[in-house]
Amino acid sequence: MSSLDVDVEAEFEEPPQEIPILFLHDIERHYNQGDATLNILSGAELALWAGQSVALVGPSGAGKSTLLHLAGLLEHPDHGEVYVDGRATANLSDTERTRIRRNEIGFVYQSHHLLPEFTALENVLMPQMIRGLGRAEAKKRAIELLDYLGLKGRLNHRPPELSGGEQQRVAIARAVANAPRILLADEPTGNLDVKTADHVFAAFTQLVRASGLATIIATHNMDIAARMDRRVTIKDGLVVELD
Ligand code: ADP
Repeated sequence: MSSLDVDVEAEFEEPPQEIPILFLHDIERHYNQGDATLNILSGAELALWAGQSVALVGPSGAGKSTLLHLAGLLEHPDHGEVYVDGRATANLSDTERTRIRRNEIGFVYQSHHLLPEFTALENVLMPQMIRGLGRAEAKKRAIELLDYLGLKGRLNHRPPELSGGEQQRVAIARAVANAPRILLADEPTGNLDVKTADHVFAAFTQLVRASGLATIIATHNMDIAARMDRRVTIKDGLVVELD
């Protein structure tokens, strides 16, 4: 190509567009209670970018869990669309939604929801084996994760033999076992005393930042919220940025 030749295709090629890893668009969610309708979400928008951490704050009943369930494809909105990595999910089959949820999205709840009859190691192994990873590989990753979260000495403990903070750290390890790109956490430290909550949250943020996960964490704890990249709340059915 001489210096005067122009690569026309390159000239007119669109620059790569960055898209949010999670995008909730025009989301409505209403619940019927007797004769009344509760409009929990009415046109809510939320874009979450790769590697970003967002605190979702607001009083009990504001709709935080509802928003997380919709974002995690556990529920369908009454209207609107949830895009995961640019892909619309509303019209996907249940199987495909489950696949996206299993591979792309991790959950941590207020209660650990670990299987009580299995050890910490087995609880973290299992989602990976369900996804199709071999036992040896799954075990290696589970040990690495539990070690990272300060639980090397608790691999073979069952949940009832662990403290509340330890149970939540195992639950965090399980949530990220399949290397999701999005981590949704619903009051993950809500059942813990202040000191333990702080410890668990420190482990949570360290892991999130080290792995480049995008996360939404619903919390009442304003100290925790202050340490996230963004803070949002739900007001009049909409997601509103704080600060
Ligand atoms: P938060 O997580 O902020 O406490 P939720 O999302 O759990 O709020 O709930 C928001 C509101 O929606 C609450 O008033 C709750 O009672 C109501 N709600 C949640 N789920 C249902 C349901 N399945 N049926 C009826 N009302 C519901």
